[in-house]
Amino acid sequence: MLIRNAKLGGKTVDLCVEDGIMTSGCRKDGTVVDAGGRAIVPGFVNPHSHLGYSITLKYGRPNESGTLHEGITRNLEEVIPKLSCDDVRRRLKKITTLLFVNGVTHVRTHEPFMNGLMYKVIKAKEETPLDMQVVAFPTPGVYRNEIEEEFRKASLVADVVGMIPHGERTFMEGVESVKLAFSLARENNKMIDGHVDETDDPNSRFTEEVVKESIRNGIGEKVTVSHMTASHSYDSWYFDKLLSMMVNSKVNVVSNPVVSMHLQGRYDSYPKRRGVARIRQMMRAGVNVALGTDNIVDMIYPLGEGNMLRVAQEAFLVDHFVSSEVESIMNAITWNGAKAMSINGYGIAEGRKADFVVLNAKSAYEAIRNALPPALVVYGKHYAVNDIRFSMDGDDVTGTVEDLTD
Ligand SMILES: [Zn+2]
Repeated sequence: MLIRNAKLGGKTVDLCVEDGIMTSGCRKDGTVVDAGGRAIVPGFVNPHSHLGYSITLKYGRPNESGTLHEGITRNLEEVIPKLSCDDVRRRLKKITTLLFVNGVTHVRTHEPFMNGLMYKVIKAKEETPLDMQVVAFPTPGVYRNEIEEEFRKASLVADVVGMIPHGERTFMEGVESVKLAFSLARENNKMIDGHVDETDDPNSRFTEEVVKESIRNGIGEKVTVSHMTASHSYDSWYFDKLLSMMVNSKVNVVSNPVVSMHLQGRYDSYPKRRGVARIRQMMRAGVNVALGTDNIVDMIYPLGEGNMLRVAQEAFLVDHFVSSEVESIMNAITWNGAKAMSINGYGIAEGRKADFVVLNAKSAYEAIRNALPPALVVYGKHYAVNDIRFSMDGDDVTGTVEDLTD
């Protein structure tokens, strides 16, 4: 495949892909795509999702309060017990196709292992067109649910060890759950990615515990703090102290601004807090901050379509970014996510696996402004030309992923 007339880092370039690898020259009889001066960026990275129960909004009674608490309860009691292997395979194919045609080539998904959902996702993930990491997610709490043994087993087969300390019964159990995740990650040589401080409670302070353990173990680059919505409500003196420790520890942060705006502030009357992590402050201080979608069409968030440019746009809006910072938000859906997920060989270069998106825009600025799905997505031997339609049943996901046969 030859992609002509694309803009890469301000220069107009031609790119060649042979057998899924970026090469210096192309065969003469292969597919030729004229990018028409559109910008090319590396494949989008979505480091926080829950794909195992995406597109299950109709599998239980509606979440009438809109709270995370009711969403989790409905999921565990009504939705997850209904998810057979076939159902998981069918929906995983649809949701990953949807993500792929939206430009996502790498995704991390947090999966509950109770009722076997995580194992079903691992079994089905080879049939998807993108690179997927699975997190053993002990929701709603490893001690609260007394699932320590199951968690130990799940951590052996997952790519990443999860946690949810604010979901445990007490503060002390939350601290213990952080320690447990670090010890399992150490024993099994895994990365860590926790749901941490996903509340509006300014007294939810488990990020400091994760940061402390990261410094003690010297593995901050392999650790991700997801959500951290409580930081929105922290006293600024405390946040300033925490921020300097975060920078030292090198921990990654993943914020999911769209779903956090939907879930947080639910217990406030007006004015309602936005409940999104302090993305801009952390980025400016040098913390590696990436953005994710979180839930798509399920009991926790009824909307969503996997458009990472829309996620970037919402981050811009909710945290008062300014025009000169738009490029840094493009990094939050590409390079920063790749760093958080420790993806080797990420980026567009000769000899690497083909992994890029031809944006429907001539610059990163324009792409985030219009948030249009990309014109072309290439990952290894797979590519997608855009054709997206989507309903809550997921039965009309029409984007197709082709085999690159030239
Ligand atoms: Zn989540």
